[in-house]
Amino acid sequence: MIGITVLGSTGSIGVNTLDVIAQHPEQYRAVALTANRNVERLFEQCVAHLPDYAVMSDVAAAEQLQKKIQAAGIETEVLAGADGLENVAVLPQCEQVMAAIVGAAGLLPTLAAAQAGKRVLLANKEALVMSGHLFMDAVREYGAELLPIDSEHNAIFQCMPERFNGLENGGIEQILLTGSGGPFLAVDPAELVNVTPDQACAHPNWVMGRKISVDSATMMNKGLELIEACWLFAAPPEKIQIVVHPQSIIHSMVEYVDGSVLAQMGSPDMRIPIAHSMAWPQRMSSGVERLNLFDVARLDFERPDDARFPCLRLARIVAEQGGTAAAILNAANEIAVEAFLDEALGFMDISRVIEATLADVSAQTAASLEVVLQADAVAREVAQSHVERLKLT
Ligand code: NAD
Ligand code: MG
Repeated sequence: MIGITVLGSTGSIGVNTLDVIAQHPEQYRAVALTANRNVERLFEQCVAHLPDYAVMSDVAAAEQLQKKIQAAGIETEVLAGADGLENVAVLPQCEQVMAAIVGAAGLLPTLAAAQAGKRVLLANKEALVMSGHLFMDAVREYGAELLPIDSEHNAIFQCMPERFNGLENGGIEQILLTGSGGPFLAVDPAELVNVTPDQACAHPNWVMGRKISVDSATMMNKGLELIEACWLFAAPPEKIQIVVHPQSIIHSMVEYVDGSVLAQMGSPDMRIPIAHSMAWPQRMSSGVERLNLFDVARLDFERPDDARFPCLRLARIVAEQGGTAAAILNAANEIAVEAFLDEALGFMDISRVIEATLADVSAQTAASLEVVLQADAVAREVAQSHVERLKLT
């Protein structure tokens, strides 16, 4: 029996993970579940999965959950706060940790899982974007396994040689990172000024949490994924070409020096990369609808338009810059997206906040976790001041 801790179990990736676990009750068991403050959903998940531990980041929410668990006569132990998250990421009965908290809040427990030598199923791209080589070093040093859940990176991983040891050794010319282009790919740029959070979150192909949905609409998601791919595959940014592919059927490609291009395809359903990473190097069913190529009928590709998606340009600059630049970019993006979702900032101002923050906060060598966390904190404050300046009235 393989024990899995699901960090962020009440979110979109968390729910999909529990769905896959439930399909294989003989092989997998959820040993710990965590959420920020959604008491009702975490309680329901505890009733269904009977984990050893349940963690709520919010202390008041943890108290509420504790009462409900007691009343229901379930033996799950309830923990609270950031310590609780780290504790369940390193449990001896857990072999795999699904890192599916959104944003910087997931960094410390995800890093703790790597330092405990777990198999880390990485959905929380922000954690890797922020901590870069510190995270990759921890994976190597503590013998952890890092498997990408992001559908594109999971696809790239599947198209890589079996014993991947760098692009050059593998005869790899470049990585083709695909992205749908989000809901505004064909919308007149003049109209983007007035789009609402609900419009931005209505993704054509994927159902996801609200933060990553906005990131998809600005294409900052692809920018974060570019940085994520640089770390995961030890690739310089110029070896990663972003390809807009509106149907989301090809999830990314690897081009070899002989001209071969390998692609991974499938229905746009996150249970595929989740099941792949849980079972790797084996395969197991995921419950996903089969891809029907006759229904798909056609695949389109286009170059990304940097003028329409300024976040892409900013992310590529940051990827080349290195150090704490990516943590600054990520923090500014989190603040700007939150303000947009609160209807305090216009859609087109998201990239303005990020660009202004990058100009104000200078990047340093990411020498330690403390340096990264400090850059994150400073960038949040600076980004907030730019939000106030640009605030919708
Ligand atoms: P979501 O918003 O649906 O869920 C987020 C989860 O994190 C919830 O369980 C929530 O309770 C928890 N959480 C939020 N803030 C927290 C905090 N401050 N402290 C502790 N827990 C907190 O998000 P999602 O769409 O499931 O995405 C999760 C991660 O996976 C993100 O990093 C996203 O970029 C990545 N990802 C998601 C998808 C997708 O299809 N949804 C695809 C690829 C990558
Ligand atoms: Mg992705």
